[in-house]
Formats: sequence, C-alpha cells, structure tokens
Amino acid sequence: MRPLFGKKDFQAIYDRTNTDSCVPFDCGTLCDSLCCQEHDAYGIYLLPGEETMFSQQEPWLTWNTQNAREHGFPESWDGDVYFLSCRGACQRDLRPLQCRTYPLAPHLGEQGEFSLIFETLDTGYQCPLIEEPARQKEFSQAWMHHLYQSWGTLLNDPLIYDLVWMDSEQRRQEQKSIKRAYGH
Ligand code: SF4
Ligand code: SF4
Repeated sequence: MRPLFGKKDFQAIYDRTNTDSCVPFDCGTLCDSLCCQEHDAYGIYLLPGEETMFSQQEPWLTWNTQNAREHGFPESWDGDVYFLSCRGACQRDLRPLQCRTYPLAPHLGEQGEFSLIFETLDTGYQCPLIEEPARQKEFSQAWMHHLYQSWGTLLNDPLIYDLVWMDSEQRRQEQKSIKRAYGH
C-alpha cells in the first residue's frame, strides 16, 4: 500500500482534534469506558499512514498486523494493516483516529455525499451516546466540525476513500438505520 498521507498530515489532524471531546464531560463515567475496554479486546485499526505517528515503543500499546486481503479490507489494499491493543488506557494526544471519531463514523451516500453518522457496527456493547438520543444534544459542534474537516481531507487518499465507501455500501446492503450527526 502507498498511503497518500504521512506523519506531517496525521500530526496536523491529531493537533486539530487533540483537545476535542464529544461531550463536555467524561462520557466514560456513563458506561465505565465500555468502548475503551472493548477496543482493547478487538483491536484498533490504523488508517494507511497513521502508523507514522507512533514509535512502536509506546508502553501502553501492543502492535499486531493483519493481512489486508485476508481480513475483508478493500481490494485496493494489500500488505499488512496495523491493529493495536491499548489495555484500556492511552496517552491522550496519541489516541488513534478511530478513537477520536467514535461514537460517530464517516459515511458516504450513494452519490458520494460525505457525512458523519452514528456508528452502526455491532460491537457487543451499547454506547449510551448512541442509544440515548437526549444525550446527543450535548455533542460538541467543534468536535464534529474538526472531525468532518479531518475526514474530508483523509478521503482524498483513495485507500481511505475505498475503506469508507466499502463500509457505507455494507450499511446499505445490511439496511442499517443511518442517523446523520453532521454533514450532508
Ligand atoms: S463513547 Fe460511548 S461507549 Fe465510549 S466511553 Fe463514551 S459513552 Fe461509553
Ligand atoms: S487508545 Fe485510548 S481512546 Fe482508544 S480505545 Fe484505547 S484507551 Fe480508549
């Protein structure tokens, strides 16, 4: 794989989103940080090029790789994909983009319209911010705006576009209920 973006680009995205959080309080207090505990069990996938943000010596991370062709990634992907386990704790300014985005996810409509939606993955746990619509009124506009800008940039990498398109197509095929949070 030849990612379009490298350390400078991901650093700019991390800088833009570092101090953001989805709600103005620690949502981990609602659920005992379910997504962090479960991400540790399942692993956190890095986007192509995102690995340049890490030394691979971070004591809170365990590194693994999976072959893209064998693990359901887009056909344009080849070689290894990095996925991490974090033991449920991290250095906040290095949390991966997947963590910065949850409980939202990037989505492309049938005409390619880009939006942030509530994640539809079957995770085996229930995020209160997805399940309780009243809480969504507290979502930070700055967080959503910065994420939307960041993903808008990242979609210029055909590899990342293909991943977001594949996930979006899968939602359509599975007739998932799509709830938009930000964008078109
Ligand atoms: S994003 Fe959802 S599951 Fe994760 S800590 Fe916040 S409320 Fe809990
Ligand atoms: S890296 Fe941080 S934010 Fe991401 S799952 Fe681990 S503890 Fe949670």
